[in-house]
Amino acid sequence: MNFALNEDQTAIQDMALTFAKERIAPSASEWDEKSHFPVDVIRETAALGMATIYVPADKGGSGLSRLDGALIFEALSYGCPAIASYISIHNMVAWMVSKYGTSEQNAAWMPKLASMEWLSSYCLTEPGAGSDAAALTTTARRDGGDYLLNGTKQFISGAGAADFYFIFARTGADGPGGISAFVVMKDTPGLSFGALERKMGWNAQPTRQVIMDNVRVPAANLVGGKEGVGFRFAMSGLDGGRINIGACSLGAAWNAFDKARGYLFERKAFGKVLADFQVLQFKIADMATDLDAARLMIYRAADALDRADPQASKYSAMGKKYATDLGFEICNEALQIHGGYGYLKDYGLEKLVRDLRVHQILEGTNEIMRVVISRKVLSGNNA
Ligand SMILES: Cc1cc2nc3c(=O)[nH]c(=O)nc-3n(C[C@H](O)[C@H](O)[C@H](O)COP(=O)(O)OP(=O)(O)OC[C@H]3O[C@@H](n4cnc5c(N)ncnc54)[C@H](O)[C@@H]3O)c2cc1C
Repeated sequence: MNFALNEDQTAIQDMALTFAKERIAPSASEWDEKSHFPVDVIRETAALGMATIYVPADKGGSGLSRLDGALIFEALSYGCPAIASYISIHNMVAWMVSKYGTSEQNAAWMPKLASMEWLSSYCLTEPGAGSDAAALTTTARRDGGDYLLNGTKQFISGAGAADFYFIFARTGADGPGGISAFVVMKDTPGLSFGALERKMGWNAQPTRQVIMDNVRVPAANLVGGKEGVGFRFAMSGLDGGRINIGACSLGAAWNAFDKARGYLFERKAFGKVLADFQVLQFKIADMATDLDAARLMIYRAADALDRADPQASKYSAMGKKYATDLGFEICNEALQIHGGYGYLKDYGLEKLVRDLRVHQILEGTNEIMRVVISRKVLSGNNA
C-alpha cells in the first residue's frame, strides 16, 4: 500500500489547483451572487483534458484514472464547488457514453463531449422519484424507427444550458428492468425546461426541470442499442459520481481550512492572537484530522473503482457520506472561527457552507449511502 501521490498525480493536482485559483476562485462569489453559469471558463477545462478525465484514450478521452479524477475535482473545488461538481457531472455522462454506448454512438458523440462543444446533463430524478429512482415514470414508446419520450425530470444540473441530455426513461414494465437510457439534444422539438430553481447554494450552475412532450428521437439514440439496461448504467455511473462529489467536498473544506488557519494568526482577542487559545488549537486539529480522514476514504474508494474491487460500491458510499458530512462541518467550523466576519459574504465562507449542504443530498442522500453500506455489511460483504 502506497499513500504518496506519484509525480504525474502531483502534476495533475498542481495543474487543476492553478486553474482553480487563477480562473475560478477570483469570480466565484460574483457567479454565486448573479447566478451566472460561466460556460466559457468551464469549456477551458476541456483543453486541459478535464472533460473526459477517465474515459479511455482509445475512446477519445484523457485516459486517466478515477484517483486522478478525484484529485482534479478536489483541486477545482478549491476554487468553487458548484463549478467543480458540474464538471464532474459532465465527466460522469461522458464516461457512461464511453462505457455503454455503441461504437457508432461513441464516434458521433465523444469528440464533442471531450471538447465540451456539448455540455451535458444527467437526467434521472423525477418529481415523484428521487431516492427511489427505479420508480421513474418518464416513458419512451417505440414508434417506427423512433422513440417518443414523455415525462418530467426534476432538479437537473446544467439544464437549459447543456446541449446533451442523458435521460433515463421507461420502455418496459415497472421496476429497474424496464428502464432504458436515451440521448436527447437540446434543440429537439418537444423538449423544454422549467424555471431556474432558486437555491440555497450551487448558484453558479443552473438547476431546472427537463420536460418532454412527445420528444421524438431516433432509435440510434437508445444508449447501447438495448432496452432494459438503463438502470444498471445509472447506478454504475453513480459509484464514480459519489467519489467525485465527495472530492468536491474535500476541495471546499481544504479552502475553508486554509482560510481558518490564516485567520487564527491574524485576529486578536483578549490581547492574544486566536491561535494562542487552546480551544481553537484543538478545533483546527480536529478539522485537519477530519479532512485527512475524508481524503483517505475518497482516494481509497477511487483506487478501488480503478481496480474494479468488489468493495468499490461500498467504499464509494462510505467515502461520499463521510467526506460530504465532514466537509460541511469543516466549512461550518471555519465560519465559526471567523466570528461575525465569517457570516459576511466578503470572506467566502458562508458560500462554501451553502454550496456544500447539497452534497449531503445529491448523488444519493447520505441516508441512502447508509442503506447501501448496511446492505453490503449485513450481507456478509464487510471486509
Ligand atoms: C441542487 C440539486 C442538483 C441536482 N442535480 C441532479 C441531476 O443533475 N440529475 C439528477 O438526476 N438528479 C439531481 N438532483 C436530485 C437528487 O439526486 C435528489 O434530490 C436526491 O436523490 C434525493 O431525492 P429527493 O429530493 O426526491 O428526496 P426523497 O427521495 O424524497 O427523500 C426525502 C428524505 O427521505 C430520505 N429517504 C428516502 N428514502 C429513504 C430510505 N429508504 N431510507 C432512509 N431514508 C430515506 C432521504 O434521505 C431524504 O432525507 C439534484 C438535486 C439538487 C437539490
